[in-house]
Amino acid sequence: MPTRALVGLGSNLGDRCELLRGAVDRMRKLGTLVGMSSLYETDPIGGPRQDAFLNAVAVLDTELTARELLDELLNIERDLGRVRRERWGPRSIDLDLLVFGDESIDEPGLTVPHPRLAERRFVLEPLLEAFPRVEIPGVPDPAGALSAVADQNVRRLESPGVRSLKRAMWVAVGGLLVVILALGLLNS
Ligand code: ADP
Ligand code: MG
Repeated sequence: MPTRALVGLGSNLGDRCELLRGAVDRMRKLGTLVGMSSLYETDPIGGPRQDAFLNAVAVLDTELTARELLDELLNIERDLGRVRRERWGPRSIDLDLLVFGDESIDEPGLTVPHPRLAERRFVLEPLLEAFPRVEIPGVPDPAGALSAVADQNVRRLESPGVRSLKRAMWVAVGGLLVVILALGLLNS
């Protein structure tokens, strides 16, 4: 019986989009990817002055244990060239195990649910988008927790597919207006 895991992804160094894509591709080997939030551009919280992050949350059904999954996620970070310098400093890729089924774990090197999850809009917002019915041990009201951090700055990015669809729609509407105008002129 697989466990549903929520994984937070973040990057603010290098080709952020490509790094997130690379991480998601590698995560597919760890189970079944059943959901994915949009990308969010978010202001850094804590640490030194640094560039904005791209964040997202993935929903993964996995047969691994929480420890095995975290080890695999840390391997992917290493694979994608993450170097740990200062705490909360810029990072090419950050993969956090946010929620692992209904498990509460507090061991050296592994705390689940992620301890700072409920204070961070850049985690909660994509998490609730990817899995609105989520139940988080220790966070009885995730939507309420999200309202409490509404002052933090995050911006949801449109996927390229949605963007090109909107552009096509505007071109079609523009074309229609031109035709209507031309017909009106001809009839006058
Ligand atoms: P953060 O993500 O909090 O900014 P890091 O990515 O540098 O910090 O992680 C530091 C350590 O936190 C990792 O080496 C990992 O062992 C530990 N850790 C404990 N619990 C978790 C978790 N749920 N998800 C990710 N890392 C965790
Ligand atoms: Mg981390």
